[in-house]
Amino acid sequence: MALLVQKYGGTSVGSIERIEAVADKVGAYRDQGNDMVVVVSAMSGETNRLIELARQIDPKARGRELDVLLTTGEQVTIALLTMALEKRGYPARSYTGGQVKIVTDSAHNKARIKSINHEKIVGDLNNGKIVVVAGFQGVDEFDNITTLGRGGSDTTGVALAAALKADECQIFTDVDGVYTTDPRVEPEARRLDSITFEEMLEMASLGSKVLQIRAVEFAQKYKVPLRVLSSFTEGEGTLITTEYGAEKTVEQALVSGIAFNRDEAQLTIAGVSDTPGIAYQILGPISDANIEVDMIVQNVSAEGDTDFTFTVHRNDFETAFASLKETAKKLKAREVTGNNRIVKLSLVGVGMRSHAGIASRMFQILANEGINIQMISTSEIKISVVIDEKYLELGVRALHEGFDLKTES
Ligand code: ASP
Ligand code: MG
Repeated sequence: MALLVQKYGGTSVGSIERIEAVADKVGAYRDQGNDMVVVVSAMSGETNRLIELARQIDPKARGRELDVLLTTGEQVTIALLTMALEKRGYPARSYTGGQVKIVTDSAHNKARIKSINHEKIVGDLNNGKIVVVAGFQGVDEFDNITTLGRGGSDTTGVALAAALKADECQIFTDVDGVYTTDPRVEPEARRLDSITFEEMLEMASLGSKVLQIRAVEFAQKYKVPLRVLSSFTEGEGTLITTEYGAEKTVEQALVSGIAFNRDEAQLTIAGVSDTPGIAYQILGPISDANIEVDMIVQNVSAEGDTDFTFTVHRNDFETAFASLKETAKKLKAREVTGNNRIVKLSLVGVGMRSHAGIASRMFQILANEGINIQMISTSEIKISVVIDEKYLELGVRALHEGFDLKTES
């Protein structure tokens, strides 16, 4: 018998039939003797619908009242699921975040959880009840309703699992796990049995949007074993765990997955003097404009001058370009160029730590396809390249094949 925290996302509770199906599923876990805490999202589309209503009143609506509005979505699903459980003969009880109580800071629309009082939940579990908690919400120290940012129900699930020291936090969603890469790009992508927190964070931050990043960070910090599973099909899903936990499950692969990000744009300022403070003078105005810089490459200078290239989010391209042109005048740079038709492609794997040669193998595979690499950056468990966007699909497939990701290692 285990204590499980399960989270069901918007699609999983998107209609009455689906809520009834979730109740069947939760009931089956309960029948196996598990203590059950269930976190739910709002019905799919509901949070967007509420935001739209708010915008009709005030296009800039945000802050406290938006949170009061948005949390109603999850209040609907906790009540409906609890009714469905009771109808099936399972004693159950619903709680909003504030009732639990999940205390957050006061940063409306993107609050962070500070503490969880789990007394009521533990009491209910001891009385044989299934506890259903509204995801994505809490209250600040003055009892103002807060929300945790879009996708925040994942974080609620993980935080409750940590507070209750649950055996596992299971995130039920519309995909059946974490894949070696996006199956829409590579149909031969394979579901991973397990992946480490670090790898998952790299994959997620690069655009494999299965889980809210913050939830993964939280799970890593509190060592909560996290599992992603499908609400609609049977299966083991993907276990996200520490390196040690993953090794117990499978022999560690060199490369676990290929992530990519289509939202990048590249900027170059050429012919600036190679003197101390140059990087700061170039990137200072960019960060002052609140633009995040991702990859950075600076040439080794030949005759005292150098070229400086970096990437930003595509949405920030125009602003960054304008800012860089200003900087170029001041620094008497030769020219400024930009390209917003690039993508970033990354190999991710903790196995890279102990194996040399992965990078050169990657470059060879891309070269064989005639794909030009424009920028390279590496970390301990990741190698990223910037390439022309038209080669994204080709690059992903070639690497998937080249690193033999479709077969279980
Ligand atoms: N309902 C919220 C959203 O759509 C929270 C969640 O689903 O995790 O962002
Ligand atoms: Mg979600």
